[in-house]
Amino acid sequence: MKIQTKIAIQFSLIVGSLLAVFSFVIYQLFAEFREQEYYDRLKSKAITTAQLLIKVDEIDRDLLKIIDKNTLTALVDEKVLVFDQQNKLFYSSLDDHVIHYGNDLLNRVRKEKYVETSDDENEVVGLLYELNGQNYVILASAYDKFGHSKMANLRDILYSGLVISILVTVLLGIFFAGNALGPVNQFISQISTITANNLRERLDERHGKDEIGQLAAAFNKMMYRLEQSFELQKSFVSHASHELRTPLAALKSEVEISLDEKLSVAQHRGILENIRKDINRLIALSNSLLQIVRPLKSSINSAVEVRIDDVVFQAQDDLLLSKPEYRISVEYAKEPENEKHITILGDEPLLKTVFTNLISNACKYSANHQALVAIDFNETHTLVSVQDEGIGIPEEDLTAIFEPFYRSKNALTISGFGVGLSVCKRIVELHKGKIHVESQLQHGSKFLVELPHIL
Ligand code: ADP
Repeated sequence: MKIQTKIAIQFSLIVGSLLAVFSFVIYQLFAEFREQEYYDRLKSKAITTAQLLIKVDEIDRDLLKIIDKNTLTALVDEKVLVFDQQNKLFYSSLDDHVIHYGNDLLNRVRKEKYVETSDDENEVVGLLYELNGQNYVILASAYDKFGHSKMANLRDILYSGLVISILVTVLLGIFFAGNALGPVNQFISQISTITANNLRERLDERHGKDEIGQLAAAFNKMMYRLEQSFELQKSFVSHASHELRTPLAALKSEVEISLDEKLSVAQHRGILENIRKDINRLIALSNSLLQIVRPLKSSINSAVEVRIDDVVFQAQDDLLLSKPEYRISVEYAKEPENEKHITILGDEPLLKTVFTNLISNACKYSANHQALVAIDFNETHTLVSVQDEGIGIPEEDLTAIFEPFYRSKNALTISGFGVGLSVCKRIVELHKGKIHVESQLQHGSKFLVELPHIL
């Protein structure tokens, strides 16, 4: 069911039930008021008749009947009956003397002195009237035609009022809910047109600070992040395929040459050497691609306490194993009295990737293949700097080198894919840390990693 219909129904149910209760209470109060008023009239009628009949001895009963019937205040189906001490009918305002009242009622009146009751549609009042030591029971009964017709009128008005009000409430409910949810429907149609090709689409935030405006703003922010990561992935795919194409094209032409032309064994050997180089390049590239994809997750899976110096030494060992020509020295800037100063919560293999990349770059981009790693800490962070005396980085590239596949012009003669630093940045940020670089062309570079320690 649509929210608009739901709100309209709920709204109408609430207003409808309130109106129904209100109408019922009005009707009941009015009914009680009418009844009481009518009993009072009957009571005064009974007393008047009794006074005329019993007190004024001379009055003729037939004359009283005529007076009773013709007074302006005569009530519909009016009966006044007076009974003496022995419950014998002493006077009846009707000629036919039909008496519907049993002794029970008469005795009740004698006991309670005043009784209000009803008989079918007629209201009945019974009262005990005492004169000269004699107790008379007077019963006065009549039908409140005027009162009942007023009640019927009121009931009709309340019924039709209730029905009309409920109808109006339903219409208003639909209108207001539609009005309030209109922008949501607009969002739905806008959102349903968004595809991978138009991620630039934004929702209308004109609704300001209300919930709909906040929803639109939150959605737009999400779209912005989606667009960014989509763009990143697109450029990643295009760069990656470009990087893959070069060695594959070289492989293809090498294979074609060796198949098409009559070559000596030495020439074949040379071509196979080239093929091996290209295959190694492809393996290195796929390793880099794997590196970039792995930490793309938004959180670390297995965060454990990791000693940063251990990770640095492991990276050093691994690098020296594959590149024995590298010269890597590791030192502590100051002795950590508490190991928590150099322990962080994180993912050990990912952290090792960071230091392997940084140390490997330092050695790769310097003629002496030398890297100096310094481990330090402050109140909040463990600090690791990786310094070299290599080719340096042009100032305008100091930010760009952290983008995937970006390589400085002065580095193009040295093998690489421009992936390592972007991976390092991503991993450090996953650990809530920061990575900076300072560099001077021809003099060397210094990368500084700050990671929050557990103390
Ligand atoms: P790669 O080294 O494979 O090209 P990186 O992402 O590790 O990829 O580095 C990106 C770029 O940053 C390098 O191409 C190079 O231009 C520059 N760079 C990184 N480290 C250094 C360094 N220690 N000295 C000089 N340039 C560096």
